[in-house]
Amino acid sequence: MSSNKRNWKPQTALVHGGTLRSQFGETSEAMYLTQGYVYETAQAAEARFKGEEPGFIYSRYANPTVDMFEKRMCALEGAEDARATASGMAAVTAALLCSVKAGDHIVAARALFGSCRWVVETLAPRYGIEATLVDGTDIANWEKAVRPNTKLFFLESPTNPTLEVVDIAAVAALANSIGARLVVDNVFATPLQQKPLQLGAHIVVYSATKHIDGQGRCLGGVVLSDKKWIDENLHDYFRHTGPSLSPFNAWTLLKGLETLPLRVRQQTESAGRIADFLAGQPQIDRVIYPGRADHPQADIVKKQMSGGSTLICVDVKGGKQAAFALQNALDIVLISNNLGDAKSLITHPATTTHKNLSDEARAELGIGPGTLRLSVGLEDTDDLLEDVAQALKAAK
Ligand SMILES: *Cc1c(COP(=O)(O)O)cnc(C)c1O
Repeated sequence: MSSNKRNWKPQTALVHGGTLRSQFGETSEAMYLTQGYVYETAQAAEARFKGEEPGFIYSRYANPTVDMFEKRMCALEGAEDARATASGMAAVTAALLCSVKAGDHIVAARALFGSCRWVVETLAPRYGIEATLVDGTDIANWEKAVRPNTKLFFLESPTNPTLEVVDIAAVAALANSIGARLVVDNVFATPLQQKPLQLGAHIVVYSATKHIDGQGRCLGGVVLSDKKWIDENLHDYFRHTGPSLSPFNAWTLLKGLETLPLRVRQQTESAGRIADFLAGQPQIDRVIYPGRADHPQADIVKKQMSGGSTLICVDVKGGKQAAFALQNALDIVLISNNLGDAKSLITHPATTTHKNLSDEARAELGIGPGTLRLSVGLEDTDDLLEDVAQALKAAK
């Protein structure tokens, strides 16, 4: 039996949404580690392949555990349909490539997760799909980049790592006015703090690796949209190219969803306090945090986000040396390029996640030698504050 009530609030949907209970009546979701499915009769197999009878055919197409994860994500996002993928990048690549063909044009915000930028800037042109990267914070830049063959807009907000915020409703309205579609990578805001579909976006993608798992265990991704777009664009691409999520990882992510609201709430609360603390420190040049009134796009944050995010970006005075010293002096906060984990993690983007960009491209994104990105975890807030304070002191 599948429970999929539309009027559930997020916390209820995340515990019960999409549950597909077997004849054994298990409480926790079952993990269906199977590649294939058997049929009572040859006629039943024929009917299933014809689509005349519901049911599973092959786990590259669909699997009961993966299906539960997709339905639960739909309930949370308010989307009609979804496809879960093996990683966030598989979700982004599928969402973009299934929507365009040679001769089409993509406009994307230049502040993108490194691999997303590679897909748009390097991979797509190999197949005759041109892309223009713009400073996404000004709608005029999107308008200027539009060409007669523009079919797709792509953005991330808040961006990685500098937490720039793009006006999703404005870009969606522009996309609608020219018959294009907008894809939003909503990883940094999480499905709880920002609802791109409600803001007019057509397709939302996640790296479920981040807050959705939230405990550093497995990779995963998901593409959500209306049923028509999925049927007409993603369905065949997905079946025949096989970016499918494994049932084992889908099960892990289902368990992650149950606690997502609690974790994101706690991590955001800690992030807000740490951001405020950092803003008062003489060794810190600049704090960028969507939950603060001094965020460069605070007005847009207010319009489209319901929380301040679990991530903080800071510029440390003294460049790379000072940033490294601060990272090395931290005790609880671990040095890692990942984010959205129960463990607090700190990254130096210029030498890790964004090392492949030119100095100029990094400067355009506001990533300097002293820039650090902090992903706030589930540790006690006071312990985290104390750790940051002692590290600042030690790094002086
Ligand atoms: C991590 C991340 C991705 C890629 O996800 P993977 O699961 O690592 O493939 C894409 N976009 C953003 C914003 C991310 O943070």
